[in-house]
Amino acid sequence: MVSEVTKYLSETIGERRAGTEADKKATEYIARKMKEIGLEVEIQKFKFLGWEMTRRPMLELVEPQQKELPSGVFMFSESTPEGGITGKLEYIGIMPFIPKLFEWPKYAVVDDAGNHLGYIIGHIDGPAINFTLMEIGKTYGCAPYIMTDQETHEYFQEKLAAGEEIRVRIDTAGKLVPGLETQNVIGTLRGSALPDEEIIVCAHHDSTYESHGANDNASGVDAVLRVAKNLIEKGGTKKTVKFITFAAEEYLFFGSYYYVKTLKEKDPSSIARIKNVVNLDMVGVGEYLWVWVAPDSFRHQVDEALKESIKDEFDIQWNPELLPASDHWPFFEQGIPSVMLIFWPHEQYHLSTDMITEIDDDKIEKTAKAATAIAERLAGVN
Ligand SMILES: [Zn+2]
Repeated sequence: MVSEVTKYLSETIGERRAGTEADKKATEYIARKMKEIGLEVEIQKFKFLGWEMTRRPMLELVEPQQKELPSGVFMFSESTPEGGITGKLEYIGIMPFIPKLFEWPKYAVVDDAGNHLGYIIGHIDGPAINFTLMEIGKTYGCAPYIMTDQETHEYFQEKLAAGEEIRVRIDTAGKLVPGLETQNVIGTLRGSALPDEEIIVCAHHDSTYESHGANDNASGVDAVLRVAKNLIEKGGTKKTVKFITFAAEEYLFFGSYYYVKTLKEKDPSSIARIKNVVNLDMVGVGEYLWVWVAPDSFRHQVDEALKESIKDEFDIQWNPELLPASDHWPFFEQGIPSVMLIFWPHEQYHLSTDMITEIDDDKIEKTAKAATAIAERLAGVN
């Protein structure tokens, strides 16, 4: 079975970076779907500072031999001059992109005077993916960055350990794009008994650079819509459930941050109305269901819901810690007990090959079943 929603978002629309025409089409489609299901739909528009690649990144080994090496784009990277920069390679340690999750080796490209001209990040256990620099301009300064793969990182380590000199050339270019517009899509199922208490079931609908984003995260949007349908078919809920697809998650949760911050500004008590967040990010590919949940008291409820819904269907691994890796984060920072369901590992993560052909609809369906059980427990069904 091929999922209609995942297929439409990843194939008919395709790459849908926040702020693009495709992103807008995706949100219109999701809003239409939510209305069909029977939710009250609201669009939250906002502007943000975007970034666009103007020259594909390139990494070339110059010495000990001439060879092109794999490279991926870093959103918000500074540009090199045209033709790139050449220098000696120096290993300078681990850079924590997402602490405890993505901690990657970092190399500087150094000129004869010892200046750092740019940086290469080695994806420690995979290919040269596309990613976002979150610390740029804050703790690391602005500089050209490119990503390379595990094999290249291991080659660098081996040569440097043997005392050999490596020289490389990197070339990359992009520009900041102010005033891009995107939108969060919010579908509400009003609670029958406790309408002022809210449960949020969410997923992001944008994709990363050059990716169809079938698993990341058309699959999560698909699952969110199925949860809404399931709860309506069960006759609705006692508490209000908000089904939200967030924009610009690949801009480091900009859409969910925007949602939380504007809510707080409008009415500081509104955050207290949100009781729990269930975030679905990448649920169509992988070997095991990885459940990130905190605090511990909330984990117990999630565990019970999983037992009654998808017991023994998948290998389940628990992460008793929530990390700043997806849209649950801005809510969890406000002290809201949250859970993220994700299937892992995902070989095509942030690659152009994240396509519908990789998707296992059964995983999306079972995730929706599990998230329905969690939401039912939290919101109470009528
Ligand atoms: Zn994602």
